[in-house]
This record gives sequence, C-alpha cells and structure tokens, in this order.
Amino acid sequence: MSFPYDAPVSQTLFDRASLVTPGGVNSPVRAFRAVGGTPRFMVSGTGPYLTDADGREYVDLVCSWGPMILGHSHPEVIAAVQEAVARGTSFGTPGEGEVALAEEIVARIEPVEQVRLVSSGTEATMSAIRLARGFTGRAKVVKFAGCYHGHVDALLAAAGSGVATFGLPDTPGVTGAQAGDTIVLPYNDLEAVRTAFAAHPGEIACVITEASPGNMGVVPPLDGFNAGLKEICAADGALYISDEVMTGFRTSKAGWFGIDGVRPDLMTFGKVMGGGFPAAAFGGRADVMAHLAPVGPVYQAGTLSGNPVATAAGLAQLRLLDDAAYTKVDAVSAEIRSLVSEAFTKEGVAHTVSSASNMFSVFFTDQPVRNYEDAKKQEAFRFTAFFHSMLAQGVYLPPSAFESWFVSTAHDAQAVERIAAALPAAARAASEATA
Ligand code: PLP
Repeated sequence: MSFPYDAPVSQTLFDRASLVTPGGVNSPVRAFRAVGGTPRFMVSGTGPYLTDADGREYVDLVCSWGPMILGHSHPEVIAAVQEAVARGTSFGTPGEGEVALAEEIVARIEPVEQVRLVSSGTEATMSAIRLARGFTGRAKVVKFAGCYHGHVDALLAAAGSGVATFGLPDTPGVTGAQAGDTIVLPYNDLEAVRTAFAAHPGEIACVITEASPGNMGVVPPLDGFNAGLKEICAADGALYISDEVMTGFRTSKAGWFGIDGVRPDLMTFGKVMGGGFPAAAFGGRADVMAHLAPVGPVYQAGTLSGNPVATAAGLAQLRLLDDAAYTKVDAVSAEIRSLVSEAFTKEGVAHTVSSASNMFSVFFTDQPVRNYEDAKKQEAFRFTAFFHSMLAQGVYLPPSAFESWFVSTAHDAQAVERIAAALPAAARAASEATA
C-alpha cells in the first residue's frame, strides 16, 4: 500500500540505524514489518502522547508495550528516578530499594511468598523454568501456541503435528534438543493438556501460560481454564507457572491473579513493575524459591539485578497504582473499546473487540477467538489500512494485528477525543482494504 504522508527525519534515522543494527531496530516488532512504512523514531513522551523526530504528536496506545500505565514522564516517577540516579547508578551490592520493591510485590500478590528480581521478562521466565526443572527433577515443559514468554530457547518452539507431540524449533538457532522437551498445545484446550499429562506421567516439570494472553491479540482464558491447569499440575506433581509479565500490576492491583484467584506455584513479572526501566521478577512458593542459589542448588544471577534506578522507578510507579488508578484505566479502556466497535459497525466491518480487564485488541472477524488458530483466521490485511490511517491522524497503535493495545491513567478526555475523531476514516480504510 502507499503511505499517506512522509516522516523524513524518522526515515533518515531508520536508514542510519539499518546500517549498524539488523533491520534498524533492537526488537523486531518495532520495524513495522507487519504493516510496512517508516517506523517512527520517538524523541519524547508526556502523559498519553508521544512526539516523533519529525515533530508530530501521537496519542499513544502502545504505552511501551504495557509498562507506562501512568502515562509518559509521570512527575513522581521522574522525581524518584532523579533522586536515585543522583546517588549512583549501580553498586553490585544489596540495597534497600530492591527490598522495598520485593516487599511491595509480596504484599500485593498473595501466592508470591518470595521473589527474585531480574532485568527482563525473558530472564524471569527462563529462570522460572530452570527452577521448576531443578525443583521437580523433571525435564518437560508444557506451553501454549500463541503464548509468548520472551525469547527463551526452550519456549521458542512451535507445535508439532497432533496433540502431545514434542515441540519443533521455531527459529534457527534453537536446537531440536532445546525445543524437544517442550510440548506445545492449543490454548484454552484442557483436554489437550490432560492428554499430554497422560502420555508423559511424572515427566512434566511445569505448565507455563500467560495469565491472560496478550501476544496473539487479547485472548482471555475461558472460565475454568487456569483453574483446570492448576488442578492437572497439582495432581501430577508439576508446577503451574503463570506468566504475568504483561498482566501483572496492569489488569488489577494484583494482576490477573487478582481477577481469577487461581494460585500459581510460580509467577513471572516485568513491564509495569519496572516503571519504564529494565526490571522484572519471578517468585512464588517459598519452598520452591528455596531451591534457588545461594540457598539452594539452582543457579541464577545478574550484574544489574535489582538495579537502584530501576527499582526506584518501579516502586514509585507501583505506589501510585491504587484502586482509583485501576478504575480510571479500566474506564478509559472501556470507552475506547466502545468507540472502536461503533466505528467498525458503522462501516460494516466484521470485527471482535476482545478484552481482558483494560487490555484489548481488535480481531477482524466476527467468529469467536479462543486460541492462536482462531486468531490467525482474521482478515489481518484490514488492520494494515486501519493502522496507517490512525497513524496519519496522530494515533499510535501497535504495528501488528496480533498485539494488545494499552492505555494509561493519563489517557484523558482530550486524548479520547482525538482517537474518536480519527476512527471514522480509519474504519472506512479498513472496510475498503483488499487482501
Ligand atoms: N512474557 C510475556 C507474557 C510477555 O508479554 C513478554 C514480552 O512482551 C515477555 C514475557 C518477555 O519480556 P521481555 O520483553 O521483558 O523480555
């Protein structure tokens, strides 16, 4: 497709970046490959807005892929960072900030009795899987197609043919051996999980699942799915790991656990808890966490783990996230969802606005979406036209039809108005799009 306007400064930066960095980006989705066009190089963010290198302002519906739940440059978060940074940036020793952040996590999320801080969601899930294997003395891991847990080798596996077959490497660089202990199953299918456990009794270390998936678009668990996973794991002596890197401290004060109440053995966190800095965590049952070095034999470490600036940012953000903040984010999410649906309905575009608390995304289909296979059946080409029309009108959406949209407490009436004003033309563009 042709793109309705230029972004010359971003294009120049992208050309420069492409010479020194593969694809010009440090994380693939930022390259706009799914939608085409020039990735916008952002220079600043304030509240619900981002400003790009060409000086254009956008309402941001990505929020750094989730972390910026208070909007950009929240004054109290910035002040906490400035105060921390003035005292030094890294000591390689324990510090009070990491204790306070761990206490905040333990206080909010009841199944987390102990927590270890790391620097990325990938590190958190990688470490949780290692710990589950070390604790159980078992090798196999169950994951679900369409759930993303970071770029952990063992979790970059695609489903083989048929249920309960072993995973195949999803990318060059992951060996058959690394993927071979991973069993990839269709999401929201408890029968498939039972079949896998029946085929491998006493061999499965853990089931890892996104607490409520946002990486195939938003596809919430069906009623009883997470509880069923927990039950099947408990019966077999496997651990149930709930990956709350995306949902943690976003979908409620206690993340998705605060919504479904199913107690995981281990949980992983990232995004919101870092306040825009690299901070993540895994935690859970104290008897399981006791297997971690230096108390137990399972090794795990990190030079920048519990970094004082990152923990100050995360703590400041979490302390601002009270009940009123979640009420606000939920309300603005509901308002935008209904505006989006209304615009598509007016243009006769088949769609489903799928939500899990304040996370949501649009599927271009009117059929139910319960797993990745369903999600892939949508008319994703309509998203490309929709995305570029919104971008041209100053609304920044995730550059893929298979990603969650995120809002913040800073998305006020003015930001919503700008979205509302952009939607009719974008919905028309989606309706006129051809494959
Ligand atoms: N787990 C989930 C559910 C995620 O959404 C992500 C990233 O989007 C990760 C893990 C990996 O986190 P990171 O990108 O910080 O490594």
